Amino acid sequence: MGQLLTQSRAVLRPVEPGSDATCAHCHDPVRFAARNKSRQVIANVYRDGRWVRVEHFHEECYGLARDPYGEPRA
Ligand SMILES: [Zn+2]
Repeated sequence: MGQLLTQSRAVLRPVEPGSDATCAHCHDPVRFAARNKSRQVIANVYRDGRWVRVEHFHEECYGLARDPYGEPRA
């Protein structure tokens, strides 16, 4: 378990109303949109076993970036 916690990983989540995240791939805002149930990928990025930052991606942008932190988990 300890090993897993020190590796970068990504999860797929709904975009919440009021989100002010910026996509790490296209640099556009990741905005809540009620009509199309937008989803985002949230990645916890670790380097040398230490957490460095959270990155947000549009779901489609994460795929375009070729899953940089592994396949996102639901
Ligand atoms: Zn994007």
